[in-house]
Amino acid sequence: MGQAFLVYPWSFHMQKRHPTGTRHSWILAAFAFILSIVSLPGILPGQTTPAQPANPPAPQSPVQPTTPPQPGNPQQPSSPQTPESGTTQVPGAGVSVQEQQGSAPSQPSQQPEAEARITPGQAKELFRSVDVILQFASQDTGLPIEHRVGRHLITREAVEKYVDKRMKDDKDAQRLEQSRLVLEKFGLLPPNYDLHGEFLRLLGEQVAAYYDPKAKSVNLLDWVPPETQKPVLAHELTHALQDQKIGLEKWERAGGAKDDKPLPDQQEYVVEEAQAARQCVAEGQAMVVLLNYTLAPMNKDVVSAPEIFDAMRAAMADDKDSPVFSAAPMFLRESLMMPYTWGTDFVRAVLVKKGKDAAFAGLLENPPVDTRQIMQPQSYLSNRVVPPLTVPDLDKLVAPDYKRFDFGGMGEFDVYLLAKQYGGDNAPPNYYPHWRGGYYFAAQAKDAPKDRIAMLYFSRWDSPEAAHDFAELYGDYLPKRYKKVSWVVKCSERDGPACSEEKAATEQGAVAMEFHGNDLLIMEGFDDSVTQRAGDVLLNGPSMPASAPKAGN
Ligand SMILES: [Zn+2]
Repeated sequence: MGQAFLVYPWSFHMQKRHPTGTRHSWILAAFAFILSIVSLPGILPGQTTPAQPANPPAPQSPVQPTTPPQPGNPQQPSSPQTPESGTTQVPGAGVSVQEQQGSAPSQPSQQPEAEARITPGQAKELFRSVDVILQFASQDTGLPIEHRVGRHLITREAVEKYVDKRMKDDKDAQRLEQSRLVLEKFGLLPPNYDLHGEFLRLLGEQVAAYYDPKAKSVNLLDWVPPETQKPVLAHELTHALQDQKIGLEKWERAGGAKDDKPLPDQQEYVVEEAQAARQCVAEGQAMVVLLNYTLAPMNKDVVSAPEIFDAMRAAMADDKDSPVFSAAPMFLRESLMMPYTWGTDFVRAVLVKKGKDAAFAGLLENPPVDTRQIMQPQSYLSNRVVPPLTVPDLDKLVAPDYKRFDFGGMGEFDVYLLAKQYGGDNAPPNYYPHWRGGYYFAAQAKDAPKDRIAMLYFSRWDSPEAAHDFAELYGDYLPKRYKKVSWVVKCSERDGPACSEEKAATEQGAVAMEFHGNDLLIMEGFDDSVTQRAGDVLLNGPSMPASAPKAGN
């Protein structure tokens, strides 16, 4: 699922360019922002002054609220001065206020107060700080400033409306349904989960600011206090520098197609992992700069003060200010956090081992290829790559009684998620490091109800024992995913890795787990002939020719 499970935090309007068309990833485009939960003020409890970048900022405009903030009514529509159309700025609803246009941006001051908004004076100061913080980010990363970064102030309502509109698109709604069914099948979402509604709620809670690579500008939020936005600016302006260096959108596609068309499975398999890894690089670098910006007044940075990472995690764990986030299913929470948590650790590891050039320009030029390299930085540092599996012609495999519903890679991070879902918080390290490849293929029987899918999940491990361990975890969780589970064939402790097959009956058909060496094939809801054929092709037979193998660049 790889990419599917990740956010697109640096860009807000990605779904139209998402390369695969069948993936879930576009959904999370709604979260094309830094999550406020990772940028909460107070990461450093002792810090009382805002970070002072290398160049002193211009004198601050006095903060003079023109109207008192009126919290407690955040649902109030925003001002009429905020056009939701008629501006060319993407995401389209933003109020574009150029710094050079004169004194204070006039629009916010005219707005009837719906919730606390920053004042014109604050906005002016925030706009001015963009250049100062950009300078800091450039020094911190070694990435040059090629050109000026635009800046816009936008309203909460504008952001929400835009997302809502995009998500109501028919094609998008169809994909959302596809994602939901696959995730529910794996037990990662509760049945009939309101994915659309949840995304909107999470978005409303989590957006903090974002960089728009199409407009080459940073979007500041008119309802977030300036002091909160400054470290976030350090983060977003790092994206601007990345963008100026390699062109974020194209780079993040990692060889995937620009249009909406699905990729051949073999290519999809490689590309979505590469995309996930690159996203971790983009976010990890931006987080390192955010943290360095926060530490700068104390003359420290993430290398000299690694404890900042603990503080950051503690801030994330303390999610009482984020009720929607904290109530979301584990899968959503972990997927959203992944680029920030694992990505930041990864970038820091490269920074410590190989220095600034390797950790910034170097990672952009020579990015990790999969989530394994992110989660185990040593494999990136020593240039060890797990070779991609060869994906056979899966449509042919299930024809004529079943037809394709969805395909996706199951990378190391996906195994992490499954292990956490099935085995609890402490389980993942026992499984994901043993990952050596995997993918799923969801299909529908021709006469099956619309919401009923069958699932093929092929995985490779570093040993037969690891394959059996994962199968046991998977099997133990079946009763939580099906109402009725009765084992027909079950491996026993003393069979060890010699056991070659397990089988259970459920109210939605058979679940078969077949082993061959390091490989594990799980078939759920297929009839016997397809299960048999899949075993022959995937485990025992000569592998079928792959469709258009092509790695991401
Ligand atoms: Zn970001």
